[in-house]
Amino acid sequence: MEIDLISDGTVRVDAGGPFGLVPRALYSKHLPPDEANRLPMALNCMLIRTADATILVDTGLGEKMDESARAMWGLDRTAGGLLDQLDRKGVQAEEVDLVLNTHLHADHCGGNTCSVAGSLRATFPRAEYWVQRVEWADAMHADARTRSTYLQDNFVPLMEAGRLRLLHGETQVSENIRCVPTPGHTRGHQSIVVEHGDWRAIFVADMATFAIHMARTAWLTAYDVMPLENVRTKELWQAWAVQNQAWLIFQHDIRMPIARLTRPDRRLELHPVEEAAGLTADLPKQQPPP
Ligand SMILES: [Zn+2]
Repeated sequence: MEIDLISDGTVRVDAGGPFGLVPRALYSKHLPPDEANRLPMALNCMLIRTADATILVDTGLGEKMDESARAMWGLDRTAGGLLDQLDRKGVQAEEVDLVLNTHLHADHCGGNTCSVAGSLRATFPRAEYWVQRVEWADAMHADARTRSTYLQDNFVPLMEAGRLRLLHGETQVSENIRCVPTPGHTRGHQSIVVEHGDWRAIFVADMATFAIHMARTAWLTAYDVMPLENVRTKELWQAWAVQNQAWLIFQHDIRMPIARLTRPDRRLELHPVEEAAGLTADLPKQQPPP
């Protein structure tokens, strides 16, 4: 089994999004925003290659956005997008067997589909796409708050083509990989656990947007639709991560994409995983604020 983190670029978002009700005086000690109060956010996807399958976890923002949407996100793809990065790892779109979507927000499944001569197709033509059934239901019945991120073009064409598999809770993907429900950010949010012998890792996705969200249980984003449920979910996985010395893989964190969690006293502490350097070597590094 071989694991790589693959970048679809970086974006800049208003710090009020990821930090919600957390006072600026507290979060800015960890992540200082620029003068426009924006923070850089990674769009990391995970590539897992096993003897039997090539699996991609999430697909970033994709290529369907117009100029104004790119500008709104502050999208930086200096080092290319997801498909360029996959190519650099020797993986072509048609070689991907399975795409796991953690949830259907636009920055996680935008690359699921692409536009070819005006019609929408699966970007990964041979792949089956898996998402939790509850996530699908909520994405299909978006409300005033979620409508701008549940973009039908990212998932409806897959359903119409019979390519989308809806999961009911925890689902084993292969001997070493499983999808686990982690509700809170959305009702149908899932994370991906990878295990090999005693080694454990979890692709956290938006259960904790940045590493610091995992260590500070009460720090929640403004986007979480069920904030108190996310607190409960984090508590469960904090305990699991401490007990297993698991690698926590953070999709959006540029400074600390992979960390371990310890609990030396009542407080949780984060420790960057030095051995993971090979997984993160090709990721964009944080640009100093302009
Ligand atoms: Zn996200």
